[in-house]
Amino acid sequence: MTLRIENVATAVTMSGVGDGPIGADALGEVRDAVIACQGDRIAGVWKRADAPPARPGDEVIDARGAVAIPGLIDPHTHAVFAGHRARQFDPRARGMSYLDVARAGEGMTRTLAPTRAASAEELFALARTRLLRMLSFGVTTVEIKSGYGLDTAQELKLLAVADRLGRETPLTVVPTFMGAHVVPPEFDGRADDYVALVCDEMLPAVARQGVARFCDVFCEAGFFTPEQSRKILVAGREHGLSPKVHADEFTDLGGARLAAEVSATSADHLLHTGPYGVRALAASGTVAVLLPATAFFLGERYAPARALLDAGVPVALATDLNPGSCPTENPHLVLTAACTNMGMTVAEALAGMTVRAARALGLSDRGRLAPGSRADVALLAVPEIAYLPYHFGWNFVTAVIAGGRVALRRDPDAVGLTGEDA
Ligand SMILES: [Zn+2]
Repeated sequence: MTLRIENVATAVTMSGVGDGPIGADALGEVRDAVIACQGDRIAGVWKRADAPPARPGDEVIDARGAVAIPGLIDPHTHAVFAGHRARQFDPRARGMSYLDVARAGEGMTRTLAPTRAASAEELFALARTRLLRMLSFGVTTVEIKSGYGLDTAQELKLLAVADRLGRETPLTVVPTFMGAHVVPPEFDGRADDYVALVCDEMLPAVARQGVARFCDVFCEAGFFTPEQSRKILVAGREHGLSPKVHADEFTDLGGARLAAEVSATSADHLLHTGPYGVRALAASGTVAVLLPATAFFLGERYAPARALLDAGVPVALATDLNPGSCPTENPHLVLTAACTNMGMTVAEALAGMTVRAARALGLSDRGRLAPGSRADVALLAVPEIAYLPYHFGWNFVTAVIAGGRVALRRDPDAVGLTGEDA
């Protein structure tokens, strides 16, 4: 079955993104384009004059002059949780830091109790709503971490919910085990005992269930030391889970260097990573996943994106969707913050949520509009691609194709540009 997307003003194929620096030609733009999907793969992207004719039975979408991009990839979220932490918003606005809030007992443990109390069915319904919001912004692949259960049965419950979300929504879901998110209150003062539980009981159980692809750890003062983190990541690898690290978010504790040392697939956050950490990541080929919406929300400094890019580190971007430090599903805000606050170009930012984000999840079959790539496409009612991060705070998506199927359509007249904008 063939799906044809016709009347595309510009197809942003990302065909010019290789392993090296990302130049202006990285976007690989094709003007006046036709995109064809065969099954769940892209069959071709052509200029209209070169496209093969439609055949009887083809499903045709009129893009009405939209810009087409690869379905966005969000490689770092904590999307499965119950409750919210809006109560912390005012104290933080008055100057209390995220870590002060955590020390006052209003941090991550505030999400723990309602998440533990919620049934798998309730968590699925809550997270499904969040994933459908992501889809509405053109996201077609999302990584989801566990880490609000913090005992074996609870962590397995969260991973099973993530797995079900992948089967019962249009999005591809990549589950990550993150039992080492925070030391739970019942292990207060006994962090090493909790690390032993993660390594000796949780990881074997998670590996038996077979859904998680990665093992992540919050390497941070007051959470897990580099030594404890290393122990967990090495044990995870022995169970077939590739390492990821929450590194240097609030202090330069050596998280980036640890990620490089264990050949982690990605090191995430990196707000406080110094020159040593940058060099270590460049040498190891670890992807830096930067989360500028979190820095924006917390009023923290931004990660050294330019230093990372200039050193040759592949840089991906993600929302970090979670109830404490970044309650948003919106990847377009992330693109804006990456350009305005981290000095990234539009091409670098878009690569960060397509080709580079795929690499941060160990996926090589998506992130481009290219023959053989997964048929994940988002259509945007914008006059050119830079308009997406430029006109922030509004959603210009008119259609989303996930795995070759139309997953979402919105009325372009309700979404689109006024004459003055166009
Ligand atoms: Zn995170």
